Amino acid sequence: MESLKKALIFLLQILYPKQCLICGKLEQDTICSKCYKNLKIEGKIDVYNNKSFNEHLYLFKYEGKVRNMIIDYKFNDKAYLADLFTKTILKNEKICRKIKKYDIIIPVPIHKKRKSERGYNQSELIVRNLAKNLKTELVTDLLIKQKNTLPQSSLSKKQREENVKQVYKLQNKQKIENKKIILLDDIYTTGATAEECSKLLKRVRCKRNISTNNSKRYVRLEDRSRKSDVRCKKTEDEN
Ligand SMILES: [Zn+2]
Repeated sequence: MESLKKALIFLLQILYPKQCLICGKLEQDTICSKCYKNLKIEGKIDVYNNKSFNEHLYLFKYEGKVRNMIIDYKFNDKAYLADLFTKTILKNEKICRKIKKYDIIIPVPIHKKRKSERGYNQSELIVRNLAKNLKTELVTDLLIKQKNTLPQSSLSKKQREENVKQVYKLQNKQKIENKKIILLDDIYTTGATAEECSKLLKRVRCKRNISTNNSKRYVRLEDRSRKSDVRCKKTEDEN
């Protein structure tokens, strides 16, 4: 059985050789070393004492190639790019060490109508891969988006804050009691979405929360170390 499986994989590799998802070069990995270098990964952690979260982890600036890839990932049906983003996060030891400190990882939800049109929640795909690789518990039925809002990218700062108010709902609260939480979103700009999600999570007594954004104008991960909350920051183009 095992040898059959190996033979099948070998055959598939001949028929569909692996390529770097950015430049298309034949490559065993999802991304070749040259493209990986060109991504200009920041992998930073910002610490806050005036927000609902304590830390915010992020990987990229939302510009150039990364920006184009995120737009393709969200709006142009390129769900396979989730693999590339996940690999990039997994290659960053500092960020992975931080994520592993948390008990639960959750994605920022999108509205069910949008999910059905797009076919996937871009943050959830990444979170699923991360949870599997880092052995962190994944919870996807905690936050739900109950209103289908306008894309944040089309709005001003003030409008973005209004646009996400009372849009999210928290359910299955018992799952996060006394847990440390990390929340992943794709893009962070003003922090409106993250703030809303955090407020809800904050109401449940948790040891700690984090929020993670894939990109902000950054790809970010946020971590909050307060006794009880998670906050997210904001997101551009979010959902
Ligand atoms: Zn490449």
